Amino acid sequence: MSNVASKIQAFTAAKFESPPKFTEFCRNGGKPLGGIIGGRSVRGMMNATFETSDPGSLEVLATICEMGHSEVADAVNAATRAFQGDSGKGWKHTTVEERRQLVMKLVELCDRDRDVLLACEVRDGGKVSELAEGDFTQIRACAEYFCRVAAGAELGETEARPVADGVKGLTCREPWGVVAGIIPWNYPIVLTAWFIFPALLAGNCVLIKPAEDTPLSALYIGKLAEEAGFPPGVINVLPGRGEITGQSIAENPGVRFISFTGSPGVGQSILRTCDLHGTRMKREMGGNGAAIVLADADPGLVARWIGRYTNQHFGQTCCTIHRVFVDQKIADEFIDAQRAFFAGLKIGYQSNAGTQLGAVVNATQRARILRAQQETIARGGEAILAGGVAEVRDHNGYYLKPALFRTRPGVDCNPAEVFHTFATICPVESAEQALQLANRSPYGLGASVWTRDIPRGVALAKRFRDGTCQVNCHNSIAYGLPYGGQGISGGPGGGVNCEETFYDYTQIKALYVAEYPG
Ligand code: NAD
Repeated sequence: MSNVASKIQAFTAAKFESPPKFTEFCRNGGKPLGGIIGGRSVRGMMNATFETSDPGSLEVLATICEMGHSEVADAVNAATRAFQGDSGKGWKHTTVEERRQLVMKLVELCDRDRDVLLACEVRDGGKVSELAEGDFTQIRACAEYFCRVAAGAELGETEARPVADGVKGLTCREPWGVVAGIIPWNYPIVLTAWFIFPALLAGNCVLIKPAEDTPLSALYIGKLAEEAGFPPGVINVLPGRGEITGQSIAENPGVRFISFTGSPGVGQSILRTCDLHGTRMKREMGGNGAAIVLADADPGLVARWIGRYTNQHFGQTCCTIHRVFVDQKIADEFIDAQRAFFAGLKIGYQSNAGTQLGAVVNATQRARILRAQQETIARGGEAILAGGVAEVRDHNGYYLKPALFRTRPGVDCNPAEVFHTFATICPVESAEQALQLANRSPYGLGASVWTRDIPRGVALAKRFRDGTCQVNCHNSIAYGLPYGGQGISGGPGGGVNCEETFYDYTQIKALYVAEYPG
């Protein structure tokens, strides 16, 4: 393996200590952390609480109040009042510049409390610092991008033009009013930012429903929003279980638009509920990403790059690589290098320096992954690294070993997303065969081709059915380029992080005005 290859390593932890402000926030003076509704901390009628813990140590970090049907209704009412402006200027009457100033004030406060938000990501989310720090930068990047989009966006009315004899027509683009973001646990800060900034800048009031495993960052951002001066009700945070809090949001017709990020099954079920009363919904869902490695690639180098991506957040990354199709001429060398990379990952507690593979988010996920490892063998996969439970000294978290399987065309042993450092490698006769196999998946989020021949790589990459097609890179994200899934990975529309995303948070109406008849 070349020297260059050996320098490529997995995302790695630096030693992380939680700041006292994080501990103080979590303790909340001995009381459970409430939801945030209409600018107030709310305990909830159900009087139900749940604990959120560090998946690497199982230490309970905070107790959180669960928001039920009644609190969701209260939040919708508070957000509607804030939107309309019952007693004063409503959010819908604010200018884009006024919204921009508040959004950027919130970003400044996030920057001030960077270490607290990093602690949310590292401790609550179980992430290594290298990745958490990268995620944190998305707050500012996302806000600045959507401030630029909002400044140039065509909102309000177009000029009226004659459309028939005595009839003029125009369009009117306006915010929906109350919109909700249902967020998964794997990228809480990033996905909260991706939801709130375009939604707020377009003039909506928001309900944030964080995942039950990682509620802390959204609650902290909600607290900072109050300090930034957002009017009460513009930003509401509703922690709780999916089937209680999330379901109540989906059932509430006052929520005009839902941005859902999560698994395909849950997204499909929420869509059916939304359809009952006409709430619009956008879905960004799971993936089972493919990488095609052509014969001209350096197997040692590319195996390490692919290993870094597969292991990003311990494989709990929606668009990452879990299926590799490698030209049979370099397959053995590639498999050896990939095995060495996976086997060399340092398994440990995510806050300890050097950790590259930490605990998965909860016991259910651990059981699911273990089952998937066994099923891969039952379906004909040949274990290169069989996975299984890992022990980490002094830490009692949900640790697992990486898993790697060899397969062959026609053996469908990796049909569904396995959210871990898990991949199948399939030697193929040609790029054409690889492409056909890659596109056979019902998912379509991210895929890549690895080759020295860039024009050939581009030509092949364009033929993936995925929403994000890449050459010699993976898990790529840039503001201005849509990030979205095809097949069961997402829809409708172009995805997030582009101009179209901003317009998703608006509705367009046609207005016809005819002469008075008579
Ligand atoms: P999930 O679908 O279980 O949960 C996502 C959110 O939906 C959570 O907040 C949950 O509480 C809520 N929810 C669950 N049941 C609900 C219901 N009946 N009604 C309303 N809300 C409900 O997903 P997860 O396990 O939290 O996250 C992992 C999944 O998210 C993976 O499939 C991953 O690939 C996907 N994901 C996709 C993207 C993307 O951009 N495409 C990004 C990150 C994660």
